[in-house]
Amino acid sequence: MQITAIATQTHEEVYRVTDAATGLLGFIAVHSTTLGPAAGGLRMRTYRDEAEALEDVLRLSRGMSLKNAAADLPLGGGKAVILGDPAREKTPELLRAMGRAVESLKGRYWTAEDMGMSTDDMGVLAGETGFVAGLAGGAFASGDPSPVTAKGVFNAIRLSAARRLGSADLAGRRVALQGLGHVGGALATLLHGAGARLIVSDIDAARTARAAGSLGAEVVPGEMIHAAEAEIFAPCAIGAILNPRSIPELRASIVAGAANNQLATPEDGRVLHARGILYAPDFVANGGGIINVAAEILRIADRGPWVEQKLAALDATLGAVFDTARRENRAPSDVAEAVAEARIRAEAA
Ligand code: NAD
Repeated sequence: MQITAIATQTHEEVYRVTDAATGLLGFIAVHSTTLGPAAGGLRMRTYRDEAEALEDVLRLSRGMSLKNAAADLPLGGGKAVILGDPAREKTPELLRAMGRAVESLKGRYWTAEDMGMSTDDMGVLAGETGFVAGLAGGAFASGDPSPVTAKGVFNAIRLSAARRLGSADLAGRRVALQGLGHVGGALATLLHGAGARLIVSDIDAARTARAAGSLGAEVVPGEMIHAAEAEIFAPCAIGAILNPRSIPELRASIVAGAANNQLATPEDGRVLHARGILYAPDFVANGGGIINVAAEILRIADRGPWVEQKLAALDATLGAVFDTARRENRAPSDVAEAVAEARIRAEAA
């Protein structure tokens, strides 16, 4: 395994990781360790080229700095990516090589699962490094973070409804949900339990069929979900779903979901605000997962109450973001970023 530093102006450390024996090609980016060790998941997916993968890891690691600060965790922001199709190219040997790269950073970066990775894969990495969380078993193991992410998003939807629709009660509210994967599937169950009416889309037809059967969800084609007749749009699949093409077509007055990087550009957050659509900034709304992972990294003995208390604090932070945005007539996305950056600056001072 070879790990080579890449010069950077924006991040503390960036590395290109290769391993000839296993075909590993990836990157690790440590954006900031001001609040604590950089933490953020390992993603494996096919990229157009190395430049696209590098851009992804740089953007995602900065996002983790904001997310961890917004969740008030003593963790900085980092991320790792592997180029390749996880279904065909993920091998234990390749994962172990990545584990050795993580270990070589001596705890300045902690990894966990992200797209293309499972708790079992984290177990493979754990054979090479102690700086891995989201494990299925062992002391302090936190397992799959998705149900906690879903709980945090559910809280964000309720809070957004209270602010924009006058009540947190979701009974009878229509929620358009994009993506019924680990988070979206759990969120759908929570929303159904709260009496919401679901409109769903997923590129996996088996998942929409299941939601239609067990939750009475209405299924719409993927490219139409953002424009569904609903009060709330919950993106739980892909990034950049809020863009100059989709925003004019939104009929919901609230957007709150789990997907990372929902805004194509910061300007799109301002356009949502100008249209009177309340947007729960993604890196605040979806912070439940990293809170769950943090309990493992920080070796919290009584994790249940600790996670609950952190989720409540995250909800309070979102409420404060909405308050400031309203008072100062600013986009919540801009306000949330300023709140997170102020927390990092205060620690650095
Ligand atoms: P997942 O891979 O389990 O689920 C994603 C789902 O979206 C799949 O069912 C997939 O078929 C579907 N999908 C993909 N493209 C789609 C499209 N164009 N239209 C409709 N459906 C589509 O992923 P996940 O863990 O549920 O994560 C969902 C999103 O939330 C991702 O953006 C992820 O980065 C983000 N997120 C996840 C967590 C977590 O704890 N898992 C935490 C924070 C953020």
